[in-house]
Amino acid sequence: MSNHNKLGINSICTHVGEVKDEQFKGAISPIYLSSSYQFYDVDIKRYPRYFNTPNQEALCRKIAALEKTEDALIFGSGMAAISSAMLTFLQKGDHIVLQQTLYGGTYNFVVEEFDKFGIEYSFTDTLHIEDFEKEIRSNTKVIFIETPSNPLLKVVDLKAVASLAKKHDIITMIDNTFASPINQTPVDFGIDIMIHSATKYMGGHSDILAGAVAASKEHIEKLWSLAKNFGGSLSDFTVWMLERSMKTMNLRVKCQNENALKMAKYLEGNPNVERVYYPGLLSHEDHELAKSQMKGFGGMLSFELKENLDAMEFQRNLQLIKPSMSLAGVESTLLSPSQTSHALLSAEEREKQGIKDGLIRFSVGIEETEDLITDIEQAIDKL
Ligand SMILES: *Cc1c(COP(=O)(O)O)cnc(C)c1O
Repeated sequence: MSNHNKLGINSICTHVGEVKDEQFKGAISPIYLSSSYQFYDVDIKRYPRYFNTPNQEALCRKIAALEKTEDALIFGSGMAAISSAMLTFLQKGDHIVLQQTLYGGTYNFVVEEFDKFGIEYSFTDTLHIEDFEKEIRSNTKVIFIETPSNPLLKVVDLKAVASLAKKHDIITMIDNTFASPINQTPVDFGIDIMIHSATKYMGGHSDILAGAVAASKEHIEKLWSLAKNFGGSLSDFTVWMLERSMKTMNLRVKCQNENALKMAKYLEGNPNVERVYYPGLLSHEDHELAKSQMKGFGGMLSFELKENLDAMEFQRNLQLIKPSMSLAGVESTLLSPSQTSHALLSAEEREKQGIKDGLIRFSVGIEETEDLITDIEQAIDKL
Protein backbone atom coordinates (compact mmCIF):
# COMPACT_ATOMS: atom_id res chain seq x y z
CA MET A 1 0.00 0.00 0.00
CA SER A 2 2.82 2.40 0.90
CA ASN A 3 3.56 3.81 -2.57
CA HIS A 4 -0.14 4.19 -3.47
CA ASN A 5 -0.12 7.42 -1.53
CA LYS A 6 1.83 9.01 -4.35
CA LEU A 7 -0.64 8.03 -7.08
CA GLY A 8 -3.29 10.39 -8.41
CA ILE A 9 -6.95 9.52 -8.06
CA ASN A 10 -7.42 8.24 -11.64
CA SER A 11 -4.32 6.06 -11.30
CA ILE A 12 -5.65 4.59 -8.04
CA CYS A 13 -9.01 3.88 -9.70
CA THR A 14 -7.32 2.25 -12.69
CA HIS A 15 -4.44 0.34 -11.14
CA VAL A 16 -4.49 -0.22 -7.40
CA GLY A 17 -5.56 -3.66 -6.33
CA GLU A 18 -5.41 -5.42 -9.66
CA VAL A 19 -4.76 -9.16 -9.78
CA LYS A 20 -1.60 -9.61 -11.84
CA ASP A 21 -2.01 -12.11 -14.68
CA GLU A 22 1.30 -13.91 -14.11
CA GLN A 23 0.49 -16.70 -16.53
CA PHE A 24 -0.49 -14.87 -19.72
CA LYS A 25 0.49 -11.26 -18.90
CA GLY A 26 -2.98 -9.95 -19.76
CA ALA A 27 -3.64 -6.27 -19.07
CA ILE A 28 -6.60 -6.77 -16.75
CA SER A 29 -7.31 -8.85 -13.65
CA PRO A 30 -8.10 -12.48 -14.41
CA ILE A 31 -11.19 -13.74 -12.59
CA TYR A 32 -10.75 -16.59 -10.11
CA LEU A 33 -14.02 -18.40 -9.56
CA SER A 34 -12.70 -21.27 -7.50
CA SER A 35 -14.66 -21.95 -4.32
CA SER A 36 -12.13 -24.60 -3.36
CA TYR A 37 -8.43 -23.97 -2.69
CA GLN A 38 -5.58 -26.25 -1.53
CA PHE A 39 -5.49 -26.51 2.27
CA TYR A 40 -1.84 -27.41 2.94
CA ASP A 41 1.39 -25.46 2.33
CA VAL A 42 -0.57 -22.21 1.88
CA ASP A 43 -0.40 -18.89 3.77
CA ILE A 44 -4.16 -18.59 4.17
CA LYS A 45 -7.06 -20.90 3.67
CA ARG A 46 -9.10 -19.31 0.90
CA TYR A 47 -12.88 -19.59 0.55
CA PRO A 48 -15.30 -17.04 -0.96
CA ARG A 49 -17.34 -16.68 2.25
CA TYR A 50 -14.10 -15.84 4.08
CA PHE A 51 -13.79 -12.72 1.89
CA ASN A 52 -10.33 -13.82 0.75
CA THR A 53 -10.41 -14.96 -2.87
CA PRO A 54 -7.78 -13.25 -5.07
CA ASN A 55 -10.37 -10.96 -6.68
CA GLN A 56 -12.05 -10.06 -3.38
CA GLU A 57 -8.75 -9.17 -1.73
CA ALA A 58 -7.62 -7.14 -4.72
CA LEU A 59 -10.77 -5.02 -4.86
CA CYS A 60 -10.55 -4.36 -1.12
CA ARG A 61 -7.10 -2.84 -1.69
CA LYS A 62 -8.56 -0.44 -4.28
CA ILE A 63 -11.38 0.63 -1.97
CA ALA A 64 -9.02 1.09 0.99
CA ALA A 65 -6.69 3.22 -1.16
CA LEU A 66 -9.61 5.43 -2.23
CA GLU A 67 -10.89 5.86 1.34
CA LYS A 68 -7.29 6.27 2.63
CA THR A 69 -7.75 3.49 5.18
CA GLU A 70 -5.55 0.50 6.00
CA ASP A 71 -8.08 -2.08 4.93
CA ALA A 72 -11.56 -2.77 3.54
CA LEU A 73 -14.12 -5.55 3.13
CA ILE A 74 -16.68 -5.98 0.34
CA PHE A 75 -20.18 -7.41 0.75
CA GLY A 76 -23.10 -8.76 -1.25
CA SER A 77 -25.06 -5.52 -0.73
CA GLY A 78 -24.87 -2.16 0.96
CA MET A 79 -27.26 -3.43 3.65
CA ALA A 80 -25.00 -6.47 4.31
CA ALA A 81 -22.16 -4.00 4.87
CA ILE A 82 -24.25 -1.74 7.12
CA SER A 83 -25.83 -4.52 9.19
CA SER A 84 -22.53 -6.38 9.63
CA ALA A 85 -20.70 -3.20 10.67
CA MET A 86 -23.36 -2.21 13.19
CA LEU A 87 -23.63 -5.66 14.74
CA THR A 88 -19.83 -5.97 15.01
CA PHE A 89 -19.50 -2.92 17.21
CA LEU A 90 -22.75 -3.21 19.19
CA GLN A 91 -23.37 -5.83 21.87
CA LYS A 92 -26.48 -6.59 23.90
CA GLY A 93 -27.13 -3.63 26.21
CA ASP A 94 -25.24 -1.11 24.04
CA HIS A 95 -26.75 2.03 22.54
CA ILE A 96 -26.33 3.67 19.12
CA VAL A 97 -27.07 7.28 18.12
CA LEU A 98 -28.31 7.60 14.54
CA GLN A 99 -28.99 10.75 12.61
CA GLN A 100 -32.52 11.66 11.60
CA THR A 101 -33.23 11.02 7.88
CA LEU A 102 -31.33 7.88 6.99
CA TYR A 103 -31.50 5.65 3.94
CA GLY A 104 -34.81 3.77 4.31
CA GLY A 105 -33.21 0.31 4.51
CA THR A 106 -30.90 1.38 7.33
CA TYR A 107 -33.83 2.87 9.24
CA ASN A 108 -35.85 -0.33 8.78
CA PHE A 109 -32.94 -2.52 9.88
CA VAL A 110 -32.61 -0.60 13.14
CA VAL A 111 -36.29 -0.31 14.05
CA GLU A 112 -37.25 -3.82 12.93
CA GLU A 113 -34.26 -5.85 14.18
CA PHE A 114 -32.48 -4.17 17.09
CA ASP A 115 -35.00 -5.07 19.80
CA LYS A 116 -34.30 -8.77 19.42
CA PHE A 117 -30.56 -8.18 19.82
CA GLY A 118 -31.19 -6.08 22.94
CA ILE A 119 -29.54 -3.04 21.35
CA GLU A 120 -30.86 0.42 22.25
CA TYR A 121 -31.06 3.21 19.67
CA SER A 122 -32.08 6.80 19.31
CA PHE A 123 -32.42 9.19 16.37
CA THR A 124 -31.36 12.83 16.48
CA ASP A 125 -34.00 15.57 16.03
CA THR A 126 -31.88 17.51 13.52
CA LEU A 127 -28.45 17.06 11.95
CA HIS A 128 -26.85 19.69 14.22
CA ILE A 129 -24.06 18.58 16.52
CA GLU A 130 -25.91 19.61 19.72
CA ASP A 131 -28.61 17.09 18.86
CA PHE A 132 -26.05 14.29 18.58
CA GLU A 133 -24.56 15.28 21.95
CA LYS A 134 -28.03 15.31 23.53
CA GLU A 135 -28.64 11.65 22.61
CA ILE A 136 -25.39 10.24 24.04
CA ARG A 137 -25.86 7.88 26.99
CA SER A 138 -23.38 6.07 29.24
CA ASN A 139 -23.78 2.92 27.10
CA THR A 140 -23.49 4.63 23.68
CA LYS A 141 -20.93 2.75 21.58
CA VAL A 142 -21.59 3.98 18.03
CA ILE A 143 -22.64 7.19 16.26
CA PHE A 144 -23.98 6.57 12.75
CA ILE A 145 -24.25 9.34 10.17
CA GLU A 146 -25.08 9.65 6.46
CA THR A 147 -23.99 12.81 4.69
CA PRO A 148 -25.11 14.31 2.35
CA SER A 149 -28.45 12.95 3.49
CA ASN A 150 -31.21 11.39 1.44
CA PRO A 151 -33.25 13.07 -0.05
CA LEU A 152 -32.67 16.71 1.05
CA LEU A 153 -28.85 16.60 0.82
CA LYS A 154 -28.36 18.03 4.30
CA VAL A 155 -24.78 17.94 5.53
CA VAL A 156 -23.44 16.70 8.87
CA ASP A 157 -20.27 18.27 10.34
CA LEU A 158 -17.75 15.40 10.14
CA LYS A 159 -15.08 17.00 12.29
CA ALA A 160 -17.55 17.93 15.03
CA VAL A 161 -19.07 14.43 15.12
CA ALA A 162 -15.63 12.78 15.22
CA SER A 163 -14.39 14.93 18.09
CA LEU A 164 -17.62 14.51 20.06
CA ALA A 165 -17.31 10.74 19.66
CA LYS A 166 -13.63 10.66 20.64
CA LYS A 167 -14.43 12.55 23.83
CA HIS A 168 -16.84 9.77 24.83
CA ASP A 169 -14.83 6.87 23.41
CA ILE A 170 -17.50 6.14 20.78
CA ILE A 171 -16.92 4.63 17.32
CA THR A 172 -18.13 6.71 14.36
CA MET A 173 -19.63 5.18 11.19
CA ILE A 174 -20.62 7.00 8.06
CA ASP A 175 -22.72 5.89 5.12
CA ASN A 176 -20.56 7.59 2.46
CA THR A 177 -22.62 6.33 -0.48
CA PHE A 178 -24.02 9.65 -1.74
CA ALA A 179 -20.65 11.41 -1.78
CA SER A 180 -18.52 8.46 -2.91
CA PRO A 181 -14.83 8.44 -1.97
CA ILE A 182 -14.22 10.81 -4.90
CA ASN A 183 -16.10 13.66 -3.23
CA GLN A 184 -15.53 12.91 0.46
CA THR A 185 -12.91 11.00 2.47
CA PRO A 186 -14.28 11.11 6.03
CA VAL A 187 -11.15 9.56 7.57
CA ASP A 188 -9.48 12.96 6.95
CA PHE A 189 -11.89 14.39 9.54
CA GLY A 190 -11.48 11.59 12.10
CA ILE A 191 -14.41 9.30 11.18
CA ASP A 192 -13.57 5.64 11.95
CA ILE A 193 -15.64 3.47 9.62
CA MET A 194 -16.73 4.29 6.06
CA ILE A 195 -19.60 2.29 4.54
CA HIS A 196 -20.83 2.21 0.94
CA SER A 197 -23.63 0.81 -1.05
CA ALA A 198 -21.30 -0.05 -3.95
CA THR A 199 -24.52 -0.56 -5.93
CA LYS A 200 -24.41 3.21 -6.43
CA TYR A 201 -21.41 5.34 -7.51
CA MET A 202 -18.81 2.58 -7.17
CA GLY A 203 -20.82 0.37 -9.54
CA GLY A 204 -22.21 3.32 -11.47
CA HIS A 205 -24.01 1.42 -14.24
CA SER A 206 -27.19 0.22 -12.48
CA ASP A 207 -26.24 -3.41 -13.00
CA ILE A 208 -24.71 -4.75 -9.76
CA LEU A 209 -25.57 -5.03 -6.06
CA ALA A 210 -22.65 -4.72 -3.63
CA GLY A 211 -21.44 -3.09 -0.43
CA ALA A 212 -18.14 -2.06 1.14
CA VAL A 213 -16.64 -1.09 4.49
CA ALA A 214 -13.29 0.73 4.81
CA ALA A 215 -11.49 1.20 8.13
CA SER A 216 -8.33 0.43 10.12
CA LYS A 217 -6.86 -3.08 10.05
CA GLU A 218 -8.02 -3.62 13.63
CA HIS A 219 -11.62 -2.64 12.87
CA ILE A 220 -11.75 -4.68 9.66
CA GLU A 221 -10.43 -7.77 11.48
CA LYS A 222 -13.25 -7.47 14.02
CA LEU A 223 -15.77 -6.96 11.25
CA TRP A 224 -14.42 -9.98 9.36
CA SER A 225 -14.88 -12.32 12.29
CA LEU A 226 -18.59 -11.49 12.48
CA ALA A 227 -19.14 -11.17 8.73
CA LYS A 228 -17.82 -14.67 7.89
CA ASN A 229 -20.53 -16.07 10.19
CA PHE A 230 -23.28 -13.95 8.64
CA GLY A 231 -22.21 -15.04 5.14
CA GLY A 232 -22.79 -11.84 3.18
CA SER A 233 -19.77 -12.04 0.87
CA LEU A 234 -19.83 -10.89 -2.75
CA SER A 235 -19.66 -13.28 -5.71
CA ASP A 236 -16.40 -13.10 -7.67
CA PHE A 237 -18.24 -12.36 -10.91
CA THR A 238 -19.65 -9.23 -9.31
CA VAL A 239 -16.32 -8.39 -7.69
CA TRP A 240 -14.75 -8.42 -11.13
CA MET A 241 -17.51 -6.22 -12.60
CA LEU A 242 -17.14 -3.81 -9.70
CA GLU A 243 -13.39 -3.57 -10.28
CA ARG A 244 -14.06 -2.72 -13.92
CA SER A 245 -16.63 -0.09 -12.94
CA MET A 246 -14.36 1.54 -10.41
CA LYS A 247 -11.66 2.21 -12.99
CA THR A 248 -13.85 5.01 -14.37
CA MET A 249 -15.37 6.13 -11.08
CA ASN A 250 -13.47 9.42 -10.88
CA LEU A 251 -14.33 10.32 -14.49
CA ARG A 252 -17.99 9.49 -13.97
CA VAL A 253 -18.39 11.21 -10.62
CA LYS A 254 -16.54 14.37 -11.78
CA CYS A 255 -18.89 14.62 -14.74
CA GLN A 256 -21.91 13.99 -12.51
CA ASN A 257 -20.71 16.73 -10.11
CA GLU A 258 -20.51 19.23 -12.98
CA ASN A 259 -23.83 18.17 -14.47
CA ALA A 260 -25.64 18.28 -11.12
CA LEU A 261 -24.40 21.81 -10.42
CA LYS A 262 -25.55 22.94 -13.88
CA MET A 263 -28.94 21.26 -13.44
CA ALA A 264 -29.36 22.69 -9.93
CA LYS A 265 -28.69 26.21 -11.23
CA TYR A 266 -31.02 25.69 -14.19
CA LEU A 267 -33.83 24.39 -11.96
CA GLU A 268 -33.33 27.21 -9.46
CA GLY A 269 -33.86 29.69 -12.29
CA ASN A 270 -36.92 27.89 -13.70
CA PRO A 271 -40.19 29.72 -12.81
CA ASN A 272 -42.04 26.37 -12.64
CA VAL A 273 -39.78 25.13 -9.85
CA GLU A 274 -40.55 25.99 -6.24
CA ARG A 275 -37.32 24.92 -4.56
CA VAL A 276 -34.02 23.14 -5.25
CA TYR A 277 -31.89 21.26 -2.70
CA TYR A 278 -28.23 20.88 -3.72
CA PRO A 279 -25.24 21.44 -1.41
CA GLY A 280 -23.35 23.12 -4.25
CA LEU A 281 -25.89 25.99 -4.41
CA LEU A 282 -25.26 29.15 -2.38
CA SER A 283 -28.93 28.95 -1.35
CA HIS A 284 -28.43 25.55 0.36
CA GLU A 285 -28.41 25.86 4.15
CA ASP A 286 -25.27 23.73 4.49
CA HIS A 287 -23.32 25.09 1.51
CA GLU A 288 -20.38 26.44 3.55
CA LEU A 289 -20.07 23.24 5.59
CA ALA A 290 -20.24 21.13 2.42
CA LYS A 291 -17.49 23.28 0.87
CA SER A 292 -15.28 22.72 3.91
CA GLN A 293 -15.45 18.92 3.90
CA MET A 294 -16.35 17.82 0.35
CA LYS A 295 -14.12 17.82 -2.74
CA GLY A 296 -17.17 17.92 -5.00
CA PHE A 297 -20.87 18.37 -4.24
CA GLY A 298 -22.03 15.14 -5.83
CA GLY A 299 -24.51 14.07 -8.48
CA MET A 300 -27.67 14.05 -6.34
CA LEU A 301 -30.17 16.89 -6.01
CA SER A 302 -33.84 17.26 -5.12
CA PHE A 303 -36.47 19.75 -6.23
CA GLU A 304 -40.13 20.67 -5.87
CA LEU A 305 -42.26 21.84 -8.78
CA LYS A 306 -44.72 24.70 -8.20
CA GLU A 307 -47.72 23.43 -6.27
CA ASN A 308 -50.11 23.54 -9.24
CA LEU A 309 -47.90 21.14 -11.25
CA ASP A 310 -48.38 17.39 -10.74
CA ALA A 311 -45.03 15.75 -9.91
CA MET A 312 -46.19 12.30 -11.03
CA GLU A 313 -47.52 13.55 -14.37
CA PHE A 314 -44.24 15.39 -14.88
CA GLN A 315 -42.30 12.16 -14.37
CA ARG A 316 -44.56 10.23 -16.73
CA ASN A 317 -43.93 12.87 -19.41
CA LEU A 318 -40.15 12.46 -19.39
CA GLN A 319 -38.58 10.77 -22.42
CA LEU A 320 -34.84 10.69 -21.70
CA ILE A 321 -34.60 10.84 -17.91
CA LYS A 322 -35.86 7.58 -16.40
CA PRO A 323 -38.19 7.67 -13.40
CA SER A 324 -36.82 4.65 -11.57
CA MET A 325 -35.61 3.38 -8.21
CA SER A 326 -32.04 3.55 -7.06
CA LEU A 327 -29.45 6.09 -8.12
CA ALA A 328 -25.92 6.96 -9.24
CA GLY A 329 -25.93 5.28 -12.65
CA VAL A 330 -24.42 6.93 -15.73
CA GLU A 331 -28.03 7.49 -16.86
CA SER A 332 -30.13 10.20 -15.22
CA THR A 333 -32.96 8.88 -13.06
CA LEU A 334 -35.44 10.43 -10.70
CA LEU A 335 -38.13 9.40 -8.25
CA SER A 336 -40.66 10.55 -5.65
CA PRO A 337 -39.23 9.76 -2.18
CA SER A 338 -42.76 9.85 -0.67
CA GLN A 339 -43.68 6.86 -2.86
CA THR A 340 -40.41 4.93 -2.73
CA SER A 341 -37.49 5.35 -0.32
CA HIS A 342 -39.59 7.11 2.34
CA ALA A 343 -42.97 5.46 1.71
CA LEU A 344 -42.81 3.50 4.98
CA LEU A 345 -42.57 6.67 7.06
CA SER A 346 -45.86 8.14 8.25
CA ALA A 347 -47.07 11.33 6.52
CA GLU A 348 -46.35 13.23 9.77
CA GLU A 349 -42.81 11.88 9.99
CA ARG A 350 -42.15 12.88 6.36
CA GLU A 351 -43.56 16.32 7.08
CA LYS A 352 -41.27 16.61 10.14
CA GLN A 353 -38.26 15.71 8.00
CA GLY A 354 -39.26 18.25 5.34
CA ILE A 355 -40.03 15.66 2.65
CA LYS A 356 -43.03 17.01 0.72
CA ASP A 357 -45.18 14.64 -1.34
CA GLY A 358 -44.23 16.54 -4.50
CA LEU A 359 -40.49 16.34 -3.81
CA ILE A 360 -38.50 14.80 -6.69
CA ARG A 361 -35.04 13.29 -6.13
CA PHE A 362 -32.83 13.60 -9.18
CA SER A 363 -29.76 11.40 -9.75
CA VAL A 364 -27.92 13.28 -12.47
CA GLY A 365 -26.11 11.13 -15.04
CA ILE A 366 -23.36 11.82 -17.58
CA GLU A 367 -25.57 12.95 -20.49
CA GLU A 368 -25.18 16.46 -21.94
CA THR A 369 -27.10 18.84 -19.67
CA GLU A 370 -28.67 20.51 -22.74
CA ASP A 371 -30.48 17.23 -23.45
CA LEU A 372 -31.61 16.87 -19.82
CA ILE A 373 -32.94 20.43 -19.85
CA THR A 374 -34.80 19.87 -23.14
CA ASP A 375 -36.43 16.78 -21.62
CA ILE A 376 -37.49 18.60 -18.46
CA GLU A 377 -38.91 21.55 -20.46
CA GLN A 378 -41.02 19.32 -22.72
CA ALA A 379 -42.28 17.36 -19.70
CA ILE A 380 -43.33 20.58 -17.94
CA ASP A 381 -44.87 22.02 -21.16
CA LYS A 382 -47.17 18.98 -21.43
CA LEU A 383 -48.62 19.60 -17.93
C1 LIG B 1 -28.81 2.05 -1.71
C2 LIG B 1 -28.30 2.57 -0.42
C3 LIG B 1 -28.04 1.71 0.65
C4 LIG B 1 -28.33 0.22 0.60
O1 LIG B 1 -27.54 -0.41 -0.32
P1 LIG B 1 -27.98 -1.79 -1.06
O2 LIG B 1 -26.81 -2.01 -1.95
O3 LIG B 1 -29.25 -1.51 -1.78
O4 LIG B 1 -28.13 -2.82 -0.01
C5 LIG B 1 -27.54 2.26 1.80
N1 LIG B 1 -27.31 3.57 1.92
C6 LIG B 1 -27.55 4.44 0.91
C7 LIG B 1 -27.29 5.89 1.12
C8 LIG B 1 -28.05 3.97 -0.29
O5 LIG B 1 -28.31 4.83 -1.27
